[in-house]
Amino acid sequence: MKQQSPIDWIDEAAIAGALGSPARDDPGQVRAILDKARTLTGLGLAEVAVLSTVTSPDLLAEVFDAARTVKDEIYGRRVVLFAPLYFSNICQNECVYCAFRKNNHELSRRFLTLEEVAQETAALVEQGHKRLLLIAGEAFPGKGFSYLLDAIATIYGVHRDRGEIRRINVNVAPLTVEEFRALKAAGIGTYQLFQETYHRPTYAEVHVAGPKTDFAWRVSAMDRAMEAGIDDVGLGVLFGLYDWRFEILALMQHIAHLEQCFGVGCHTISVPRIEPAVGSAMSEAPPYAVSDDDFRKLIAILRLAVPYTGMIMSTRETPAMRRESLLLGISQISGGSRTNPGGYTETDAEDASQFQRGDHRSLDEVVHDVAEAGFLPSFCTACYRRGRTGKDFMDMAKPGLIREMCGPNGLSTFVEYLEDYASPATVRAGNQAIQAELERMPEKIRHYSETMIRKVHEGKRDVFR
Ligand code: SAM
Ligand code: SF4
Repeated sequence: MKQQSPIDWIDEAAIAGALGSPARDDPGQVRAILDKARTLTGLGLAEVAVLSTVTSPDLLAEVFDAARTVKDEIYGRRVVLFAPLYFSNICQNECVYCAFRKNNHELSRRFLTLEEVAQETAALVEQGHKRLLLIAGEAFPGKGFSYLLDAIATIYGVHRDRGEIRRINVNVAPLTVEEFRALKAAGIGTYQLFQETYHRPTYAEVHVAGPKTDFAWRVSAMDRAMEAGIDDVGLGVLFGLYDWRFEILALMQHIAHLEQCFGVGCHTISVPRIEPAVGSAMSEAPPYAVSDDDFRKLIAILRLAVPYTGMIMSTRETPAMRRESLLLGISQISGGSRTNPGGYTETDAEDASQFQRGDHRSLDEVVHDVAEAGFLPSFCTACYRRGRTGKDFMDMAKPGLIREMCGPNGLSTFVEYLEDYASPATVRAGNQAIQAELERMPEKIRHYSETMIRKVHEGKRDVFR
């Protein structure tokens, strides 16, 4: 049943005030904010606004440097890897930026059967993936919502000699509380939904038909998810629709609202930029296209503002931008992705894709590149299986859980990947990165890690704390 309370927490006047008042490039003010951010306590609206107006190259370098410090302090060199699985490109909405929009006749439409979902899952498992993000247009023709639950059960039911999917995150249109309850019971990890834009007039302009025209229903989706017990939720903005400064401040208000009502903000933030999409003229020239420089800036600011929140980057971005972003704050990336239903088993069906990818490399190539850059790919799925979600995760994260738990877990899953799937060149790069990491670890954590790695070498799989 559709039910919602009024959206009174987006305060456009407060955003305008915060963006209008701060003195630009005031070194004293900016440095005081960066000092606070280095204490890992996060930033408020006004502070985020000040950082978003920094233009001086020297001060900007200090912002990036602080973001690198915070990223390294909390996440170390770990980078979580996942793949999207598109089960349908059929959609009843008209989002002018998206190839899946209902009236786009340049796209061939496809809704995967459960057998096809199983085949796609098997292809991802054979690449070495353990985490999957289930995505679709807004429509379950003839099948209804229960198809989504069946798809989840199908994916968790696929086991291959060397592995299986251990965590399914979901990015589908807003649901009712009852549907969210069923999704939770199906064993999902994070429920993700991008608001696209928090600016109502822009929202109305770019969502011209279909249920997605209802701004309030979409922006209140996370309240319903949390009410239903899904306490890991992922927010996001589609950058390019409206001024990115407004969007990140509204995002901060969304997080504050969730914290106030449910005791915990969001688990992840995604930062998609609009990419060219078949049949979408606006995607070729977004009205507020975010430059690479502003994109780096907004990633760094979000990392400083919400230090314990995961940040996700997809294959929309190029390998170079993805590598750079790992230093500035991104903690999760996709690898070897396809954005068309059936894309992992039928490689010639790319005309049904949602948007053009900037990174076309295989998972092995991405892992190799990440490891060579000194980062540690992680396939860990331990937290939600141990019940460390929502507020529990955040409470434990603060005193150092991420280092103590995620560090060793990340290493054991990476070793599992290297043993079971990696090319010889990736094994070499991976082993070097692992060795360097073990040497950097405090003795107690190194001890846990070495014990877990030994178990993987001895043939045990899915070793986690
Ligand atoms: N259909 C659901 C919805 O719109 O929420 C869920 C999945 S939709 C396929 C996932 C996301 O893709 C959207 O929320 C939007 O931000 C993003 N997207 C759509 N068109 C895009 C484009 N041209 N470039 C980059 N991202 C795009
Ligand atoms: Fe449909 Fe989502 Fe694309 Fe909008 S963004 S057209 S709802 S798939």
